[in-house]
Amino acid sequence: MFKRVPVGNSGFIRDMNAWSIFRLIDQYGPISRKDLAANTRYSAATITNHVKSLLDAGFVLETSKGDSTGGRKPVHIAVNPRKAYILGVELEVGQVRLLLFNLCRTVVGSRSLPIQPGQGPAQVLPRAVAAAKDMLAAAGVSREQLLGIGIGAPGQISQEGVLTFAPNLGWKRAVLAEPFAAAFGCPVLVENEAKAGAIGEREWQYPQLDNLAYVSVKEGIGCGILLAGHLYRGTSGSAGEFGHVPLKPDGRSCHCGGRGCWETLASETALLRKARRVQPDLTGVDALAAIAPLELAKLQPVFEDVGHWLGIGAAVIVNAIAPELLVIGGSMARFAPWIFPALAEAFASQALPAVRETVQLEFSQMGDQATLHGLGALVFTEHAPVLLTRELGEDAVAVT
Ligand SMILES: [Zn+2]
Repeated sequence: MFKRVPVGNSGFIRDMNAWSIFRLIDQYGPISRKDLAANTRYSAATITNHVKSLLDAGFVLETSKGDSTGGRKPVHIAVNPRKAYILGVELEVGQVRLLLFNLCRTVVGSRSLPIQPGQGPAQVLPRAVAAAKDMLAAAGVSREQLLGIGIGAPGQISQEGVLTFAPNLGWKRAVLAEPFAAAFGCPVLVENEAKAGAIGEREWQYPQLDNLAYVSVKEGIGCGILLAGHLYRGTSGSAGEFGHVPLKPDGRSCHCGGRGCWETLASETALLRKARRVQPDLTGVDALAAIAPLELAKLQPVFEDVGHWLGIGAAVIVNAIAPELLVIGGSMARFAPWIFPALAEAFASQALPAVRETVQLEFSQMGDQATLHGLGALVFTEHAPVLLTRELGEDAVAVT
């Protein structure tokens, strides 16, 4: 039923015991104390002790939910959703979307606001902060209850959390965290949208997988790589820029300075550009999504072309890193029925047999939610242990 969680008794692990138990409750709760003990190497007494500390500090609560074999239902332990909240902010081309999560990462508020072409951080960020304040107020959440804020953006993020370059957004060297940190006084992390998307997919769709690639196909193509359960960022923090792998040496020039990059061939921008050759009056990809079923015969060669290049790029990724799973997400996922046949054919022709036989290829089932839910998970993983340690202290988490 559960993964066996290795728990030792070193000093480091000792300090993390309350967190380990809390994480188990988060993953498998509502769960009884007996099941917690049965599926860990903790003694029943240790479990009881830690659960009591977590209950006293309000991190978890008791619930009667659970299987009953007749008679009194056993008491189960679950994460207290109202102990703390997480704000997720996703910057996209054309809009900012905000979600408020409770500590169980259930969405309890949402807002979105448009970004007009040419608007920069100075115009957009104060409005996003105001929308976040409004959303918190509507949900009855104070700023002191925020565990942290996660901001996702379509571009390269430095190790200091600065958005160094977001060509499709038109932003350079933008300090995204500062206005939110100043307004809410809590930790703020900034992550590339595709890397956060990889975490979102793993957390919500594929918790059993440790090696996966998430390809976010929107105006550009971003990629998040999870290796052995950890995001791979590389030395510069920008690892995974498969969108700028040159696949067509004589192709179009790319805003990165290269030529024939994957995203010039297979992004939504490329899809729209190619579709307009067939249907010049297309206003955007939303219009394309609306007419695609009606004009399929006319547009089929366009979808085949984009599907082909998506399949070639997907093969490059799996040949390089051999993940268990490659997920194609972002707004391109809505065109899956029309692009998949050509994608699968190109992928099969270019992926090495050894990886082709072991990799699973999927379109995202998370719609436009993977990045925001990934941000929620990232903030939880990074800051919930800090809050736990601050409130429980070392003595409270000591092994007895
Ligand atoms: Zn490029």
